[in-house]
Amino acid sequence: MTHAPPIADAAVRGTAVLKPRRARPFFARHPWVLDSAIGRVDAVQEDGAALDGAVIDVTTSRGEFVGRGIYNSRSRIRIRLYTFDPDEALDEHFWRGRLESAIDTRRLCGLPETSDGAARLVFSEADGLSGLIVDRYADYLVVHPTALACASRLDLLVEHLTDLMSPRGVVLRVDSALSQLEGCELSGDLLWGEVPEGPLVIREHGIGYQVDLTGGQKTGAYLDQRDNRRQSARYMAERRVLDMFCYTGGFALSASMLGSAASVLAVDSSRKAIETARANSQLNGVGNVEFEVGSGFETLDRLVGSGERFDAVVLDPPKFASGRRKLDDALRAYHRLNRQAVSLLPPGGVLVTCSCSGSVTPDDFLAMLAGVSQQTGRDIQVLESRGASPDHPVRVSCLENEYLKCFICRVQ
Ligand code: SAH
Repeated sequence: MTHAPPIADAAVRGTAVLKPRRARPFFARHPWVLDSAIGRVDAVQEDGAALDGAVIDVTTSRGEFVGRGIYNSRSRIRIRLYTFDPDEALDEHFWRGRLESAIDTRRLCGLPETSDGAARLVFSEADGLSGLIVDRYADYLVVHPTALACASRLDLLVEHLTDLMSPRGVVLRVDSALSQLEGCELSGDLLWGEVPEGPLVIREHGIGYQVDLTGGQKTGAYLDQRDNRRQSARYMAERRVLDMFCYTGGFALSASMLGSAASVLAVDSSRKAIETARANSQLNGVGNVEFEVGSGFETLDRLVGSGERFDAVVLDPPKFASGRRKLDDALRAYHRLNRQAVSLLPPGGVLVTCSCSGSVTPDDFLAMLAGVSQQTGRDIQVLESRGASPDHPVRVSCLENEYLKCFICRVQ
């Protein structure tokens, strides 16, 4: 079956009527209407796929207005709601207003602060723009659509973003989730303007980092950990530090430059990330950080086996659980890592332990740490419970966006 190109205008093309008693999450302003909540769709078109990308109203089974959103027959999130106001059209004015509001939020947080800074400008549901991520890296924007609703309105979104931010270039980032979960294919790198010539350097808390906007991980950097890198550095003075899962060296360079660590060993399995990390170290004139390519689990086993000691360990592994079903496996992996990290620390050592698995709650993670404490016979005191930096806000009506946990602990 061929799939019609999505409709991207503001006209309301139909009404989705919810099953009885399924409206409560949307009265609480949750933006995802799953296929299983919908009783029927009344539309001019017979074929559901012909509605893809179109604006659609959602009502209760009794016909009361619930919200207005965008339809996608190929996604389990059948409708993404963008407004709960029946008088608000999802027209050009609406999208611009949402982008402006998102950028205003970053100004409120003091971001973006400098011309060579980097910040997340739009964080999907948290900014009322479900399915759109926009990051700013110095004079460039990276646009990462995660839903057909926004992918089909890219031209309009990019036009307003360029008008609001005056970038030199807008780069497109696509991951496989878009085609797998949303049935939407996008290709091409550059959406507007130019790509940076050579490595782009951004500055975070005074530290320079090379960022690869098209070939790096995430949209180029892990901006969510910005303030955790600085904050954890405060505990690192004169310490011998291990930065496990270091990517391009963020925690390691922060420990050395902001925290006056004595020395740092930083490990990541990505050779490319380590090459960039070494370049970053040189760029900043740092001489006491050693970078190594290696597996996190095996390196920790080796260091423990050879009786190594560190005064502080940072653990920032990749996402282990992509859903609640994988939770037990994920918690076992976190347990193993944290147990090994604790074994490397003397009494009074510092453990900075993170998880970016959204399905692992802070309580799950703390319970895992309690298990580590029990099995190792070491006390673990949480000094700081932290989340993502404020350019990754959490909207209380959609807690699915709250994913990052960072605990700074003292281990006795
Ligand atoms: N701490 C980093 C971000 C880390 S993201 C920062 O502040 O920028 C997680 C990192 O884990 C990625 O760089 C990825 O390359 C690395 N990684 C994934 N699997 C790994 C493994 N098995 N062993 C070591 N590193 C791994």
